[in-house]
Amino acid sequence: MADDIKAVSTEVVPVDARQPEAAVIERAAALLRAGELVVFPTETVYGLGGDALREEAARRIFAAKGRPLTDPLIVHIAQVEELERVAAAVPERAQRLAEAFWPGPLTLILPRGEQVPRLVTAGLETVAVRMPSHPVARALIRAAGRPIAAPSANRFKHVSPTTAQHALADLSGRVPLILDGGPTPVGVESTVVDLCSSVPRILRPGGTSLEALRKVLPEIEPPLPPRTTASDKREREEGQAQRSPGQLLVHYSPTAPLLLFEGEDEAQRAALVAEALRRLERGERVGILAATEDREALRPCEEGGALVRAPASLEEPEKVAAALFAILRALEEAAVDVILCRSFRPVGLGLAIQDRLRRAAGGRIIRVDPSAGATEGVR
Ligand code: AMP
Ligand code: MG
Repeated sequence: MADDIKAVSTEVVPVDARQPEAAVIERAAALLRAGELVVFPTETVYGLGGDALREEAARRIFAAKGRPLTDPLIVHIAQVEELERVAAAVPERAQRLAEAFWPGPLTLILPRGEQVPRLVTAGLETVAVRMPSHPVARALIRAAGRPIAAPSANRFKHVSPTTAQHALADLSGRVPLILDGGPTPVGVESTVVDLCSSVPRILRPGGTSLEALRKVLPEIEPPLPPRTTASDKREREEGQAQRSPGQLLVHYSPTAPLLLFEGEDEAQRAALVAEALRRLERGERVGILAATEDREALRPCEEGGALVRAPASLEEPEKVAAALFAILRALEEAAVDVILCRSFRPVGLGLAIQDRLRRAAGGRIIRVDPSAGATEGVR
């Protein structure tokens, strides 16, 4: 193996997602108590878990993922009482959010508790904490009897895993155990909210919508636009830990280049179809991610050999989110030369979808101007 990790054989063990078998959970919990790593399902994506209070376990997580030590980990808890073990203080705003959204896909940035090694927080004096709702995640954390640090169970910069098979593809030989609880229901990562800044702000949109958060904390700010790779690079060179590593512009990247079409619906659909037909004619293998509303218009592309995935309607961002990462991985595995992708409205989970697609595009966004009917973009 290229980096500094010992090869192990990886076992995939099925687990009942609703009523996890006690023996399976106990086996995984014993590994966590021994400082080893376990991949497990959460309601968002699969997590790569290790003891959050043990530096050596955190070190193993970074090594298995190939993740730079400047990217902090999210600490997962099973009971609110455990919050005191990991956070130095819990502001009133945080209590309100926790009460409303935990267990669930919401991560809170709080002042770091002394017991949490600095390696886990990438040297920051803040810690990211979340209480997952997935029965397997909850049972496992409870049985381990300690908070569990768990980033997504993918290799650094790859698409997050929503099935045990995705995690195996990325981490085979790098972790002893993967619990297979089937596909994860939400499909995108948690929403990260910073409660350590003067104004609470979303750092990463995810499984809990801005609209829902605002019903509890109306003053919450939407995410800032992604930083450029140039400014990220500068920060790294200056040796600073990133405030929010998911904010890297090129982060969720499938191996095939992804072109993202944005703009008025009809116009982006027409531009996508034209681009697909042009590429098919050149003999390229084309993958398309679209909505059911696009099906009709995409028929000529499909007949021309394009692989079309249209998981749901534009009105169903939850369904699109649940299918998104599996589709990107499937198209990548089909060895397409390019993935052409429509955009989804940034409403509800649509905000997280937009964020992940823009990052996957890494700047290859084609903004369609409806009046000129022309396409323009950075390629
Ligand atoms: P992952 O667990 O791989 O999905 O990514 C970790 C995410 O946690 C990043 O996108 C960050 O936004 C967030 N994060 C973790 N710790 C902190 C922290 N102390 N401050 C800000 N963001 C954090
Ligand atoms: Mg991740």
